[in-house]
Amino acid sequence: MLNEHVIFVDLETTGATATYDHVTEIGIVEVDRGRLVGEWSTLVNPGISIPPAIQALTGITNDMVVLAPTFPEISRDLHGRLEGKLLVAHNARFDYGFLRNEFQRAGIRFTSRVLCTVRLSRKLYPGHARHSLDALLARHDIECDARHRALGDARALWQLVQRWQRERAPSTITAAVAELVRTPTVPAGLPGNTFDDIPEAPGVYVFYGENNVVLYVGKSVNLRARVMSHFSGDHCDSRDMRIAREITRIDWIETGGELGALIEEARLVKHMAPVYNRRLRRTMELCSWQWHPEDPDARPQVVSARDLDPSRFADLHGLFRSRASALEAMREIATAHGLCPILLGLENRKGPCFAYQLKRCRGACVGEETRTSHALRLAQVLATLRMRPWPFKGRIAVREATPGRSRTDVIMLDRWCYLGTARSEQELHDLQECPPRPTFDLDTYKILTRFFARSHGGSQVIQLAAG
Ligand SMILES: [Zn+2]
Repeated sequence: MLNEHVIFVDLETTGATATYDHVTEIGIVEVDRGRLVGEWSTLVNPGISIPPAIQALTGITNDMVVLAPTFPEISRDLHGRLEGKLLVAHNARFDYGFLRNEFQRAGIRFTSRVLCTVRLSRKLYPGHARHSLDALLARHDIECDARHRALGDARALWQLVQRWQRERAPSTITAAVAELVRTPTVPAGLPGNTFDDIPEAPGVYVFYGENNVVLYVGKSVNLRARVMSHFSGDHCDSRDMRIAREITRIDWIETGGELGALIEEARLVKHMAPVYNRRLRRTMELCSWQWHPEDPDARPQVVSARDLDPSRFADLHGLFRSRASALEAMREIATAHGLCPILLGLENRKGPCFAYQLKRCRGACVGEETRTSHALRLAQVLATLRMRPWPFKGRIAVREATPGRSRTDVIMLDRWCYLGTARSEQELHDLQECPPRPTFDLDTYKILTRFFARSHGGSQVIQLAAG
């Protein structure tokens, strides 16, 4: 924390509830890379009466704040002072919650990286039970000339941190701060307790912005941890920063396990077209190269892979989102391996091919390389692209559950196609009685081939009637 611009902040308020109570005083101490660069403090007119007990505690009375500026009146100035800096406060959740609420009421979205000195003290001095500001000031023998006044407490925090820096190794402090600041902050547009509601379970989450614009769809085996990682603020992911500014709502769908989450994510990304997901181009014409090496004179053909016949899988090589990208891929293969574009069906003329003149074809078109040799080399390259045959007899069900969660999903699949998910015996029965026609989808194919190449993540595969 020595190496950046930090703001020690303390607030006095009319009470403990950020959504109801208001700020009565703000004190900040600004420290740039270990050097004190400024202090600032102001009383704030809270617009509501300060309860007598609070007046007694802080010494800030209704009379004192009646002529003070309101929070909206100082909000722009204050925002300028805080923006982009690390906010340090004692029990920072409290101060940060108040600041966010006050800024929000003033029409400003405020988010910041936050360091809590209670938590930092616990990390640096784990042997001590008490970490209240009074306990810490007493323990470290620090005098505070204006306890319970905003600037007095902010100065005390700065004193405290300086003391810690003398008593603890820099690397220890740096590591502790890094760990604490990674703790996510709830974006301004979301309720403060947002993360608490999200289950630690597999599933898919959806971020919404204003007017229900879908910002982002993601999946995880631990929804809460993944959602929070978007807002950890310790790295400069510009997409996450934009999402944090725009987000107003989070939705999620729990799934039985990872496979269900992957399939649901792919489905939602296609369906919702979120602003910040990598755009999947619409698959108008899914294509593959069909070629059988036993006939060396036959040229590879681009075929539509939409109506998949599993018996043809051994002859299909690669899956492409369009005819153009299939041709492009084959051109790259030809160049990389000195294969002849004429024999690959890419150039329609008599030899020599254009590539031969550039010495990029080994001359199968002019008889310098035999057809058999050319076919052999082509077979070797294409083998790496061959479609995986469906490893089951027709239709299967994958039963997915996560240890510690009650939910079990049964995912029905047929020849790399997703048929549906059942969450009860009745749903499974219905799905089996009347399964939808399998429709091939490239994303599902990729998800499933990867899934079955691994250990299935502990899920159970049930062979159903061959469909
Ligand atoms: Zn050639």
